[in-house]
Amino acid sequence: MALIAKNLFMKKVVQLVLVSSFLVLFSGFKPGDKKWEKPFSRLNSEIRKNSKAYETLENATKTIGHRLTGSSNGARAEEYAYKLLKSYGFSDVVYQPFEVEAWMRDTVTLSIAPGSSDNFRDVEVVALAHSPVDAKIQGEIVDVGNGLPEDFEAVKEKLKGKIALANIGLVGAPGKKNLHRSEKTALAIQYGAIGIIMVNGAPGKILLTGTASVTGAIISIPAVCISNESGDEVRKWLKEEAPLEANIDMHNISKPIRARNVIATLKGKTDEKVILGGHLDSWDLATGAIDNGIGSFAVIDVARAFRALKVKPERTIQFVLFMGEEQGLLGSKHFVEELKKSGSLDKVSYMMNLDMTNDPKGANSFGREEMTEFFKSVGSAVQNVDPGFKNELQNRAGLHSDHQPFMLEGVPIAGLAGQLTPEVLQCYHADCDDFSLVDKQQLESTVRIASMYLYALSTSPKLAVRKLSDTATRDFLISQGLKQELVIGQEWRWGK
Ligand SMILES: [Zn+2]
Repeated sequence: MALIAKNLFMKKVVQLVLVSSFLVLFSGFKPGDKKWEKPFSRLNSEIRKNSKAYETLENATKTIGHRLTGSSNGARAEEYAYKLLKSYGFSDVVYQPFEVEAWMRDTVTLSIAPGSSDNFRDVEVVALAHSPVDAKIQGEIVDVGNGLPEDFEAVKEKLKGKIALANIGLVGAPGKKNLHRSEKTALAIQYGAIGIIMVNGAPGKILLTGTASVTGAIISIPAVCISNESGDEVRKWLKEEAPLEANIDMHNISKPIRARNVIATLKGKTDEKVILGGHLDSWDLATGAIDNGIGSFAVIDVARAFRALKVKPERTIQFVLFMGEEQGLLGSKHFVEELKKSGSLDKVSYMMNLDMTNDPKGANSFGREEMTEFFKSVGSAVQNVDPGFKNELQNRAGLHSDHQPFMLEGVPIAGLAGQLTPEVLQCYHADCDDFSLVDKQQLESTVRIASMYLYALSTSPKLAVRKLSDTATRDFLISQGLKQELVIGQEWRWGK
């Protein structure tokens, strides 16, 4: 009997184990994320129901246009964000003004002729930012291909006093790491070129702009961008009619201006801080809908949702809309300088940056290995409320957005790995970066996913990483393969 009873009992136990693992398996719920289940589903449904990201971005692009730092549009964008955050119930919203030398384009022409003749042909062109206020040059064109250090080294004898022709992207260099257009321009100056013509990688007669200065200061040579098709044509002329002469004539404006970061603070139980940021400014060729309308208006809408749900985080959260990113991370550099001045940089536990982030598939733990488990488990908790979420984790650090000044101080950085189609990407900094490129569902998915990661970062009792020391930061940047770029960018402070 006892044996029978014992067998019956064992049978019950086995059945129970089977049923519960069946439930776990098919409910898709993963153990260990339970603490986030409720807040994540509240955030998820609140944003699905009430997100204002798409309509406010549409309104801003229509009523303000581009948001170039230092322009009247830029100032109106700062006010727009400030008023929106106030309207969402934030009492603590402030402007953080800063002074910058702001560059604005005026006129530019490029014409090219076979060396032996005066038959100059005009080529459509746009000036790259921080080019000289006035420049009128004529010189022979020297093709530097992809404009990597070895490409410049290969033509160093020929380039002095000439005009470099370089690709913005990489053409046929598998596995090679590209340099930023400002770093290629710095190399052209280093090798004695008198100007640089950069060829856009995206087809479709698209002209793009962006800074050609690694420091944000005015550079000594004119830098311009021509379309992909014009690049092919110039290279064809180079084959058939070399040497080729180019004539660049440009006029720009550069003057000190005041701009303002916009900061909304959600007080936490401690004054440890987590920052969710994205740049609000844009270039002036279109309305910066993708760069960085989708990122900055996602930050504002995450703030809206946290207020609406009366979230009480452990750590204080600051929602920061930076200005001056396009002109050289000017707003975020100023923000970090102010933190250092006030001695509160050590309070920053994490900085999450949204720059062109779209429809995230997972997190990027930016080279901090110790955090991958954490981000993985957050991602599986997200999957419990959004089964379509892929939870694909990346773990590599990069440069050239507002996280950089924080990362260079050792602050842990988090990113969200989203994706944009080639059709959208080819409008990066170009005259086609308009609202028609914005996908409502994907923008709202950015808001939902970002809000859940921010919730986890701002409420988890303990985070596995802290701000690195100065030496540990140096070693971290080296381990991430960023030293050379930072040296060229004059941002490497650790000597040889
Ligand atoms: Zn951007």
